[in-house]
Amino acid sequence: MKYVSTRGQTDPVSFREAVAIGLAPDGGLFLPETLPDISPRLPGWRNLSYTELCAEFLGLFATDVPPEVLQQLIHRSYGAFTHPEIAPLRKIDDRLYVLELFHGPTLAFKDFALQFLGNLYGWECEQTGRTINVLGATSGDTGAAAIHGLLGKPKAASFILYPEGRVSPLQERQMTCTGAANVHAIAIDGSFDDAQRVLKDIFANKTFATQHRLSAVNSINIARVLAQSVYYLHAWLRLPEAERGNVEFVVPTGNFGNVFAGWLLQQMGVPVMGYKVATNRNDILHRLFTTAEYRSGEVHPSLAPSMDIQVASNFERFLYYALDENPTRVNNVMAQIKATGAYRFDLLNRSLFSSSSASDDEITSLIRRVYERYRYIVDPHTACAFKDINPQRISIVLATAHPAKFPAAIRDAIGQEPTSPVLEVLKTRPVVKHRLPAEAEAIKAFIAQRAI
Ligand SMILES: *Cc1c(COP(=O)(O)O)cnc(C)c1O
Repeated sequence: MKYVSTRGQTDPVSFREAVAIGLAPDGGLFLPETLPDISPRLPGWRNLSYTELCAEFLGLFATDVPPEVLQQLIHRSYGAFTHPEIAPLRKIDDRLYVLELFHGPTLAFKDFALQFLGNLYGWECEQTGRTINVLGATSGDTGAAAIHGLLGKPKAASFILYPEGRVSPLQERQMTCTGAANVHAIAIDGSFDDAQRVLKDIFANKTFATQHRLSAVNSINIARVLAQSVYYLHAWLRLPEAERGNVEFVVPTGNFGNVFAGWLLQQMGVPVMGYKVATNRNDILHRLFTTAEYRSGEVHPSLAPSMDIQVASNFERFLYYALDENPTRVNNVMAQIKATGAYRFDLLNRSLFSSSSASDDEITSLIRRVYERYRYIVDPHTACAFKDINPQRISIVLATAHPAKFPAAIRDAIGQEPTSPVLEVLKTRPVVKHRLPAEAEAIKAFIAQRAI
């Protein structure tokens, strides 16, 4: 299987190359050259465990990774999850399920992709004998998941920038209490935007980036998307036969990465009836699906911080298919969005996609309502998905984070704080972080000293 760029100016590359490069040199995002029709395989996949299904599915895409290696990487990736089913599907009402994606090491769904990506990087380093220094900026969950994906990989180090005082105390502990020598949590004096700007400056210095074998961790790697498709497939296969034809996945959404991973399955022949894009008050995607206009706006902080996004970076992949896989049209639309901040679509498949947007007040009352009705505690991101559930469908809500990650928001809603043993252990460990100014030179000097 080869991978092509959405912008069409990059020669097709193998899976391993696409993973190693991340972003295509022409500025586009990688996608499989063709999407396989998996519908004939579905009956045979019905009784597979999560990791078995993962190996079958990813085997269709990672064709240049030997199958026994792929299996090993998958076992290593999901062996760190605390629930035997990896992604358990819980029925909480007659037509309502919750797909729990928070049983990984950092208690958010990003572990599904970043555990796998970390193991792929680790294997690639063993194969090539090279080392890798992963650099990222985070407002919370991604940095923690990336760090944990690379823990214990002797040839990889991670440098994660985050804004001092602006990630939650528990998120900070997930990044700073690992005790690992190859993990460098860098608290910068500035905002998340400052962290991203510094990161861009560092990568713009090609000599420095090459010299230290820097690799960016972000949401655009194709391996992340494909690893996420697996839990949609696993959940769909777990449903009673009579319900499988009427499913709507309800997805708390920021960058459109997660919901895109689910939508790909429908393109591969899994008969899913709908995808609901649940946003917080940062509603660019809700506006898109209700007005057909994509227009970025100002980002407002919310109770669901991992969805505080007004540019959906994975949206370009969806655009590619919406524009008949025509890279020239993708280029034109992306150029227009860049120039004017907006684009109006003539046709969008609005029968397949629906959307909602929840304010902070609504998030609090949704947490309360879900608890009162089902005795089930949802985190503030997952809570957004409970707004306007479609009663016509069998809804599968994706629970993207463990509620214990957001104790204050839960306490305000239901008067009690959920806990998790994983987080309690962290509270007993020392915090190791490096305070640095938000300046590329200072960060570069730090990296140059500690890169492996
Ligand atoms: C990252 C994140 C999201 C948003 O996911 P996207 O792939 O950006 O749409 C939602 N919930 C939680 C808890 C997250 O960490």
